[in-house]
Amino acid sequence: MKIIQNFINGAYVAAQSGEYLPNYNPATGQIYAQLPDSDARDIELAYLAANEAFYLWRKTSSEKRFKILNRIAEIIDNKNEELAIAESIDQGKPLWLARTEITRSAQNFRFFASAAIQFNSDCNVMDGHAINYTLKTPIGVVGCISPWNLPLYLLSWKIAPALATGNCVIAKPSEITPMTAYLLGEICNEAGLPKGVLNIVHGLGHKVGNDLVSHPEIKAISFTGGTNTGKHIASVAAPQFKKLSLELGGKNPNLIFADCDFEKAATETLRSSFLNQGEICLCGSRILIERPIYEKFKAFLLEKLNHYTVGNPLLDETQMGAIVSEQHFEKILNYIEIAKQEGGKILFGGEALKPKGFENGWYIAPTVIENLSQSSRCNQEEIFGPVVTLTPFDSDEEALDLANGTPYGLASSIWTNNLQRAHVLASELSCGIVWINCWLLRDLRTPFGGMKQSGVGREGGLHAMNFFTEQKNVCVKL
Ligand code: NDP
Repeated sequence: MKIIQNFINGAYVAAQSGEYLPNYNPATGQIYAQLPDSDARDIELAYLAANEAFYLWRKTSSEKRFKILNRIAEIIDNKNEELAIAESIDQGKPLWLARTEITRSAQNFRFFASAAIQFNSDCNVMDGHAINYTLKTPIGVVGCISPWNLPLYLLSWKIAPALATGNCVIAKPSEITPMTAYLLGEICNEAGLPKGVLNIVHGLGHKVGNDLVSHPEIKAISFTGGTNTGKHIASVAAPQFKKLSLELGGKNPNLIFADCDFEKAATETLRSSFLNQGEICLCGSRILIERPIYEKFKAFLLEKLNHYTVGNPLLDETQMGAIVSEQHFEKILNYIEIAKQEGGKILFGGEALKPKGFENGWYIAPTVIENLSQSSRCNQEEIFGPVVTLTPFDSDEEALDLANGTPYGLASSIWTNNLQRAHVLASELSCGIVWINCWLLRDLRTPFGGMKQSGVGREGGLHAMNFFTEQKNVCVKL
């Protein structure tokens, strides 16, 4: 049995409680590791280490920060296979997908390493009689809380800019997928990251996560996770005037028009529906299809799904692995039941699977549902699993109304060859990210985040660098 430890002040240590929580392999349903059940005492230790490290780290040259973060990236790349296997076992995702996510985690470090040496301050000249310059300084000790769906990728997406700007970090990965965050500790030591600059505390979100958010000396919280958790975190952080970045849930529409490149739109829709078991905040879960191609599109999806491979995440041919936890597995199945009660017609899947040799794992067939109203719960609430709904539409206006008609506003994709329509819709969609004739094509410089209940603030590029800095204007009269 593997024993995961907290990473505090450059060393692996047990939780102060001495207690452990079980860590499951979702593919088998078996416990395969234990992680520390940390509490406020561990956060305090991490804080003391981070606060002490901050005085040196904030003065460390950007060139040196660049080199260390690049070195972390290099070691992650060298350990790609080891980390990918760990991620796949911990999360249930196919190994081939985990490999690309580990590569992208290294890219996050590399990208923000470069940002460290390119981040500049601003200067505003007042009609020749005064100069304002803006200092951008690190905040201090910051908290980064990440979810279980893309564990190392989303953790690195937060801690890399925080470290690049000279902050010290206390990270709280999801208790459900702690393994790659645990392995990151020794990578940081090997890369020469000074002790205390990054601390990783494991445990339950509502316990130690809450302790992190409420710690009075932690001045900024960057959180990615569910909307309800985000609401709670905001209610704790706001009265303490902490800086807050919230990347929350989504109920993303794919808008498929009759004039699209059919093969490309349908193939990418399959990918945006079921990649990572549908457990990506950017997955398209509401497939809106212009009526003239509705039946053809549906037939295409169903035909492809007939050959879809669900099973052992470690096999190359597996297209969809296991659902991350038993609790999430039950939640998704419950939504499928709700869909049936709401009059939904299950066109494909709609049930748990028991792949041979993995009968105790948590698998759900890719599920396609039609005939649900816009107001149905399955069209309004985030399921975050391999479940999509199909809805026909008859005009651009109707497509837009359907697309915008949920409390969420994270992402959308438009599939059309009509340039004007694409740009008009892109400007009218109430969401933070619009893809036109593509999905999940990411440029790390661009603003990343959601509108409405999908979040507050933007990550990515300079947005993340600005979030993790205080800006101070200095005015000099000439
Ligand atoms: P949760 O909100 O349950 O958890 C996210 C993180 O917050 C975990 O580390 C969790 O710890 C921790 N946490 C839980 N409760 C608290 C609390 N009271 N105080 C502080 N931390 C807490 O989300 P999931 O892990 O279930 O992730 C899925 C959600 O994340 C989906 O809604 C998805 O859409 C969203 N997401 C959004 C993205 C975006 O960029 N907008 C990207 C990826 C996912 P623990 O797991 O130990 O409980």
